[in-house]
Amino acid sequence: MLTGTRVTIIGGDARQLEVIRRLSEMDAAVQIIGFDNWECRLSGVRQAELTAEAISRSDAILLPAVGTDDTGRIDSLFSAKPLVLTEELISAAPAHVHIFTGMAKPYLRKLCELHSIRLTELFDRDDVAILNSIPTAEGALMIAVQNTDFTIHGSRSLVLGFGRTGITMARVLQGLGSKVAVMVRKPEHYARAYEMGFYPFYPNSLADEAIQADLIFNTIPSLVLTANVIAKLPAHAFILDLASKPGGTDFRYAEKRGIKAMLAPGLPGIVAPRTAGKIIGETLSQLLTEEQGNGRRPT
Ligand code: NAP
Repeated sequence: MLTGTRVTIIGGDARQLEVIRRLSEMDAAVQIIGFDNWECRLSGVRQAELTAEAISRSDAILLPAVGTDDTGRIDSLFSAKPLVLTEELISAAPAHVHIFTGMAKPYLRKLCELHSIRLTELFDRDDVAILNSIPTAEGALMIAVQNTDFTIHGSRSLVLGFGRTGITMARVLQGLGSKVAVMVRKPEHYARAYEMGFYPFYPNSLADEAIQADLIFNTIPSLVLTANVIAKLPAHAFILDLASKPGGTDFRYAEKRGIKAMLAPGLPGIVAPRTAGKIIGETLSQLLTEEQGNGRRPT
């Protein structure tokens, strides 16, 4: 249980509602900031304004999936009021405060560094990234189905990258009867991909593999789908770039060649906010419970 732990949740989208529910169940004292358009009837949860006083009453602070923008602005789906995390606000936080977010931009990292504040980027964790790969792959399938005039069954898919998202993507495509080739760069990943029934290949063969590709799912956050590769694709091929912005596709060249290509960021929060919120809520509760057990926080 999180009895006595004060958690401040600032901004966010529908995912945060699940987190708030979970923290309330765990008996945490939750203050929510930037939720004025949401009527909350959960016990132990109260609305607050973004003030130094509210920040000073926090053992932990949860920011949205992308913590702040490059100027400290925090997005909130449930409020029209601007929310900005300033240095003045951060300096009001207790020394033991722990800030959580999905992924942090340099602004937030720097602010935390400057004030020696612990910052955890939840999407970096393997458990969170693997669980998030499930709604990501489901969302990717949905977009692929909507943007093609052929079935996934019987198609040839290329999955670029064999990490937490790539493995799940390759498996769901295989489950639907697609012939799946995966691009890897390590021999151990080559062997594992082969063992799992995929057709593995190394980056130097990508242009050759492109010749027969119907669907391409990229998970590599560097430019891999270059003009050279896109030039080899059949005209009906569809590229779905799942890597973080700006993705790994030469979108300008794809458009010029008439190849449909899309960047699809943030799929878990779009296609399955409740599941994505549960993933964050469970992980956060677990981390805060461990901290309480380790006595890292004054009681
Ligand atoms: P990950 O586990 O680190 O996997 C990344 C994969 O890319 C690894 O297999 C890595 O190979 C490979 N790779 C990286 N740079 C490469 C390069 N230059 N050439 C060839 N291969 C390269 O990351 P992840 O959790 O799967 O996430 C992948 C991307 O998807 C990230 O950008 C993440 O932000 C994004 N993402 C998007 C969504 C969405 O909704 N669209 C959801 C979740 C994640 P090695 O193993 O050899 O290093």
